[in-house]
Amino acid sequence: MTIERRLRIMLIVTAIFGVATVFTIVHIAKSTRFHQVNSRYVAEVNELAGLLNQRKSPSLKQLLDKLYSIRNEADTCVSMTSPVDRTIMYFIQTREAINLCRANAIQSQIVINRLENHAPENPQAVVLDNRLRDNLLAVPETLRRNTATFEALITKTVKFTIRAALWFIIPFSMLVIILCHTIIRGVTRNAQEYRETAEALAESEIENRKLAYYDSLTGLPNRNLLADRLEQTILSARRQSSRFALMFVDLDRFKHINDTLGHVAGDELIKHAANRIRKCLRASDTLSRFGGDEFVIILPDLRSAADVSTVAGKIIEQVAKPFHLDGVDTHVTASLGVAVYPENGEDTSTLMKRADIAMYQSKDNGKNRFCYYNNELNKQADKRLLLERDLRRSIDHDEFTLHYQPVVDLASGEIAGVEALLRWHHGDQGMISPAEFIPIAEDTGLIVDIGYMVLDMACRQCQLWRNNDGVDLHVAVNVSARQLKEKRLISYIEDCLSRYSLPPDALDIEITESVFYNNDSCSIDTLHKLDELGIRLLLDDFGTGYSSLSTLTSMPFDIIKIDRSFIMSRHGKNRKVTESILDMAENFEMQVVAEGIEDRNIAAFLKQRGCKYGQGYLFKKPVPADWIELDENFTNLIISAPELELVVPGH
Ligand code: C2E
Ligand code: MG
Ligand code: MG
Repeated sequence: MTIERRLRIMLIVTAIFGVATVFTIVHIAKSTRFHQVNSRYVAEVNELAGLLNQRKSPSLKQLLDKLYSIRNEADTCVSMTSPVDRTIMYFIQTREAINLCRANAIQSQIVINRLENHAPENPQAVVLDNRLRDNLLAVPETLRRNTATFEALITKTVKFTIRAALWFIIPFSMLVIILCHTIIRGVTRNAQEYRETAEALAESEIENRKLAYYDSLTGLPNRNLLADRLEQTILSARRQSSRFALMFVDLDRFKHINDTLGHVAGDELIKHAANRIRKCLRASDTLSRFGGDEFVIILPDLRSAADVSTVAGKIIEQVAKPFHLDGVDTHVTASLGVAVYPENGEDTSTLMKRADIAMYQSKDNGKNRFCYYNNELNKQADKRLLLERDLRRSIDHDEFTLHYQPVVDLASGEIAGVEALLRWHHGDQGMISPAEFIPIAEDTGLIVDIGYMVLDMACRQCQLWRNNDGVDLHVAVNVSARQLKEKRLISYIEDCLSRYSLPPDALDIEITESVFYNNDSCSIDTLHKLDELGIRLLLDDFGTGYSSLSTLTSMPFDIIKIDRSFIMSRHGKNRKVTESILDMAENFEMQVVAEGIEDRNIAAFLKQRGCKYGQGYLFKKPVPADWIELDENFTNLIISAPELELVVPGH
C-alpha cells in the first residue's frame, strides 16, 4: 500500500475517533451539569419539605415559588438532553432518568395547579389545612425517591461516558501519535527522496554534460567541444593576428588490430595512444578524440611551421613505440595531416576538411608520416569527389570496356591466357586509369556492380574466343576484396559460366593480397567455394601486401603473380626477392606469373629461373578484344595491334 493511501485511511479513522472523543467529552460535561441541576433540585425539594414541616404554615407564595423552582429544575434537566443523548441513554438503559425528570416536572406542575386553584386570590395567606398539608408532604417524598433513582441513572450514564471516553481517547491519542509519526516519517522520507533525486539529477546533468562534450573512453574533448574550441581559437587568432595549426591524427592499421585482438584491446590501444599524444603537447593545446581512431589537435599561437613539425614528429615517434596489449607487443603507426590558420583556411569547416585531406595524403604516401595541406591536395580531393559522382553515372552509360593483356608461357612463347583489365572512357576526361577509379569504386561499394559487369563481359568474350575447339584460353578477371564479401558472387559466377557454356577452368580469378588485411572469414569462405567450383585462383601483386606463408599454404591459390615492382626494379635486392619467391613457389608446387616484364633480359632471367608465365609490355600492352583474333588454324590467338604484329606460335 502506498504511503499516501495509508495516510488517508489513518486520517479517516483518526477523524472518526476524534469526533467520538469530542462528543464524549461534551457528554461528560453535560453529565456534570445534570448533577449540578439535580443537586439544586434535591435542595429545592428538601427546602419544600422543610417549609411543610415547620410549625408555622408557609405562605402559598412560598410554596409556589419552591414548586416553580422544582419544576424548572426538572424542565432544565429534560431540555438539556439532546436526541443523541437520548439515543445513547436508550442504549445504556438510563433513559428512565429523563422520564423521571419529566414526571417530577409534571407532578410539580399538578401541585402548582392545585395550589393556584385553591387560593388564587391571596397567595400571602396561610392556606394549609391538614389534608392539603398531608398531600403536599407526599410530594417531596415522591420527588426525593425519583431524584434518588435519577441520581443513580445519571451516575450510570456518567460512568459509561467516562469509560467510553477512555475507550475513545486512548485509541484516539494513539492514533494521533501514529499518524503524526507516519506523517513525519513520510515527510522525512519524501524530503530524503527529494534530496536524493535532486542530487541524482545534478549528477546526471554533470554526466550529460560530460557525455555531450567529452569522449567517454579517453576523457578527451569530443567533436562538439572541439568545434567550440576551434571556433574560439579562430576568433582569438583573428583578434591577435596570430596563427595556429589544426592537426588530424589517424592510427594506421587500427582496424586490423580491432578485428584481430578484439574491441577491448582496441579500446585499450586508443587510451594508451591518447595518453602518449597528450604527453607530446603543451597545456594550452587541445587534444580531442574525433571518433574511432582519429584525434584532432589544435596548436594555438604558432610561431613557425617548424613548431608543428616538431610536435608531429614527436607524436609519430611516440605512437610507433610498441603497445603492450593482451600480453602481446602490438605495433601501430600514425598518419598526420596539418592545416594552418589563416593560410589554409579561415573557418572551421575549411580547416577541418583540409587537415583531413592532408592526413589522407600521409596515408597515400605510405603512412607513419605527416603532411602539410597544400592546394594540390585540395584539387586532388575535389577531383576525387567529381570522379565519384561520375562513376555512379557511368555504370548506366556504357562507359566501361575491357582490355585484355596476354599472359605468355615463357618457355614456348605461347599465349596461355589473357587478363581482363577494365577501362573507363569518361565522357569529358577521356580514358581514366583503373589505378585511379578502382579505389574509389571500392570505397563507395560501386565495385560490386562494376565487378558483376566485368565478369559478364569477360565470360562473353571468352566464349567468343573459345567457340572453336582446341582453344582452351583462360581469361583472368580481377576481383576486389569488397566483392568477395558478396554472398551472391558465387551464384553469379556459376550463372555466367552456364550462360556462356564455359567450363570453370576457363575463368581465372585474381585476388590481391589486401583480402587478407581484415582476415574476413566470409571472403575466405568464398575463396574456398570458388576453388571447389574448379576455378583457378591467382594471388595478385604478391609481395606488396599482407599475405604470409600461412596464407600460401592454407588458401586455395593455384598461381602467384609477382608484383611488377619487383620485376621492373633494377635493384639487386628485388631480383633476390624474385628469386626467393620463385623458389618458394616451387616448394609449394605453385606456378608463377611475373607481371610487368618490359625487358628481354628480365624475361630471359625469369625463364632461366623457372618462372612459367610472364606478362608485360614486352609481349603486349592491354588491348581491346577486337585486336585479338584466332589464327588461320583457329588454334591460337593473333594480336593485330597496329604498332606490333605479334603472332603467337601454335601448340
Ligand atoms: P593488376 O591486376 O596487377 O594488373 C596489372 C597492371 O599492370 C595493369 O594495369 C597493366 O596494364 C599493368 N602492366 C602490365 N604489364 C606492365 C608492364 O610491363 N609495365 C607496366 N608499367 N605496367 C604493366 P592497369 O590496367 O592500369 O590496372 C591497374 C590495376 O587495376 C590492376 O592491377 C588491378 O588491380 C586493377 N584492375 C583493373 N581492372 C580491374 C577490374 O576489372 N576489377 C578490379 N577489381 N580491379 C581491376
Ligand atoms: Mg591482376
Ligand atoms: Mg598485379
